[in-house]
Amino acid sequence: MAMIDIKRASVRYQGGVTALDCVDLCVRAGEFVFVVGPTGAGKSTLLKLLYRGEAATEGYVSVAGSDLSTISSADIPLFRRKLGIVFQDYGLLPNKTVWENIAFALRVTGAGRTETRARVHAALEMVGMTHRPDATPSQISGGEQQRVAIARAIVNDPPLLIADEPTGNLDPDTSMGIVQLLNYINERGTTVIVATHDSMIVNMMQKRVVAVVAGKIARDEMRGDYGFERSSGYTGAGD
Ligand code: ADP
Repeated sequence: MAMIDIKRASVRYQGGVTALDCVDLCVRAGEFVFVVGPTGAGKSTLLKLLYRGEAATEGYVSVAGSDLSTISSADIPLFRRKLGIVFQDYGLLPNKTVWENIAFALRVTGAGRTETRARVHAALEMVGMTHRPDATPSQISGGEQQRVAIARAIVNDPPLLIADEPTGNLDPDTSMGIVQLLNYINERGTTVIVATHDSMIVNMMQKRVVAVVAGKIARDEMRGDYGFERSSGYTGAGD
């Protein structure tokens, strides 16, 4: 089954920038995919297409069984419950504890108290954060905050986890731990797609690599490297 099916999709922003230009991408359920490319290439826009943060100007986009080309805005919140989403800046609620941040994500699903307790605990266990449930985000490190954000993203057991630069604010060792956690979640059956600038982790993991350059898919390799190292200042123009 295709978890992500994008056919000839383009995104043009107001002002005329074509951020994605007739892109095709198919990701099967269970895959782990890195999206790489220079700044401004269209990586974030590609991920936004997946969670319907942006709509395609043209083309077909289907994610986790929902056709986003025809979805009504009323159905978008329900669609997003099928996704876990993680960003560079963690996005935790600062005045809530670790536990509350994760439990909050379950409220919309109407989970009862017993189920909430079990699910939050299981999510914290998955990310290795059961020791600090009562800490607020400012009392834990950046790497720990990202672990909590990942726990929040997976607490509903989504089929697809989307991460946009999840290690962008972290040091190399911490970044490696976060990527190993994403890999562990993938091995348990969740499809994972990660946009990143981090060549070390991409080269280390040897996963599928989709390179976006100037709004197009420039490369798609099943066991790929980051690939942009040799030319610093790479712009994607005729290189
Ligand atoms: P990346 O994630 O690879 O850095 P983006 O997807 O953020 O690239 O951006 C792709 C292109 O679209 C860039 O030229 C960027 O300036 C432009 N862009 C991104 N978001 C918007 C927006 N909301 N409005 C107009 N242009 C945008």
